[in-house]
This record gives sequence, structure tokens and C-alpha cells, in this order.
Amino acid sequence: MSLSTASSDAYLAVDIGGTKISVGVVNTARTVVYESRISTPTTQVWESLAKQVSGALAWTSANNVRLLACGVGCGGPMRVDEGVVSPLHIPEWRDFSLVSEMQELVGLDVVLENDAKALVLAEHWSRREKNMNTVPSIMMSVLVSTGVGAGIIADEKLLMGRTGNAGHIGHVIVQENGNKCACGARGCLEAHISGPAIERAIGAPASKANIQTRVAAGMLLGQAIASVAATMDLTDVTVGGSVALGFGDEFFQAAQISARKHAGLSFLKDLTISPVADRSLAPLVGAAALAKYSIEHASCL
Ligand SMILES: [Zn+2]
Repeated sequence: MSLSTASSDAYLAVDIGGTKISVGVVNTARTVVYESRISTPTTQVWESLAKQVSGALAWTSANNVRLLACGVGCGGPMRVDEGVVSPLHIPEWRDFSLVSEMQELVGLDVVLENDAKALVLAEHWSRREKNMNTVPSIMMSVLVSTGVGAGIIADEKLLMGRTGNAGHIGHVIVQENGNKCACGARGCLEAHISGPAIERAIGAPASKANIQTRVAAGMLLGQAIASVAATMDLTDVTVGGSVALGFGDEFFQAAQISARKHAGLSFLKDLTISPVADRSLAPLVGAAALAKYSIEHASCL
């Protein structure tokens, strides 16, 4: 689907989620000028994705758009340095060489990262565009969807950690002897508020959760954010992902109340939790932001 016409430089953006796969073209002004979205197939995933990408490439050449690089956001686990993914919700892909396949298809530099890191890059790009003065020295975006993760940007750099796994807020323990988590522990945030965790708890899709469930999930998120905020000395937290955005105001209000309650230190008094700027288009803007970031920080990813 073409959203508008453009004649300029742009990034090819790919978001591979548990429920949908999006391919887009995002221009340097952060506008999604082309978008194609399909439900994540259960078989022949690469073939479907390649078809979508070919459609995007055809659109860019017809509209005289020059692609600068390709960013790919994907659910984990993955080995970023090898360009290999094994997303939990795409059983067909185990140690799938996504980056080399994609490079061959598009003939561009391809940058792969998890979707939470892409999310914080999208947020950072949005802030920078609006006003450089509103970009904090450290900020975090949390993704609450099929999984729960976070990306952190400190001093203009994406925090990677020793093995590239920094940001796994989904495994902060929020409940003693709580739900069993895929990581082996009990009571992890992800085991309580991810889409599948909510579905297990209520026996229906997360989108059907009642207000009590949404508030309880928000409270747990706020609790985890308070711990990370104290650890990292950060007060600016944005949250995206289908579960969080679908849960809406009650969820965000509960998260904010809970975070403030659990964050008593004076340097955290302004701790603020708000929805991400780009809402439904954030995954694509995030994937484009990955491509942009890789060009600006050639040696960091
Ligand atoms: Zn866990």
C-alpha cells in the first residue's frame, strides 16, 4: 500500500513480529511513505517476506526513491554479530541467516537488532527531530507485546552490554514465586504481562483483558521500571508494543502510579512513563532508525 509519493532518500524497514510482518519505506523525515503488512505465516516465512520486500523495492524504483540502508527489527533470540535469528514465534526459522539472505535480496547494508532496541531508536529519532533540547542524556523504551524487552540510549549511544543483550527488563523479578518464565526463573515481568502470559491468565486474547487485568499489568510494569530507573539513573521512559498500547490509559496510569510509589529516591522524582511517539508505526520507524543509526555510528552495531 502506498501512503504517499516521495522523491528522496529513504530507509528500507522490516519488522518481523510474532503476529505480523511489516515492510516499509521510511524517508529521512521519519515518514512512512510505503507500507505492506501481512500476518506472520506459519510456513514459507522467508518466501512471503521476500515477496513483500520485492514489492517495496519495485515501489522505490517507480518513485525514484534512493534507499540508503535496510534495518530489520525482529523478536529474539538472535545472534546479532552473525546475523542469525531463531524467533520463538517462527518455528521454521532456527539459526536462520536472515541478514545474508536479506543482503542478497536487497543489495544494501542490512542491520539487524531486536525490536526493543529499534523502538528506543525510533523514540530518540522523534525527540531529536522535534527539539534537540528535549533529548535526555539517558532514556529507555519498553516493548510490551509477545515478549517484554527494553532498549536504552545513554549519551547518544545504544546500550549494548557485553554480548549485545542489554535491556532485558522482561526478566526483572516482580513477583516472588510467580509465574514460571521461559528463562527458567519464576515471577519475571514477561511471565506476567506479555501477550501470551495475559492470554494464559484470562483464557482469552490480551485484547479482551478487563480493566482489573490491565491495571494489574500496569502496576507490575511500573514496579520493574522503578528498579531499572534507580539502577540507571533515568526518568524518561516510553512504552510501546501491541499489549501496552492496546491496554491504553488505565494501564499507563497504573504504571505511572506504581513506578512513583516504588521509586523513592530524590533523583527519580520526575520519573515519567508515557506511550511511544510513533504508536502503530513505531516498529517500522524503529527498523528505519536502526539503519540510520548504523550509518551514523558505523562501528557500534
Ligand atoms: Zn524470565
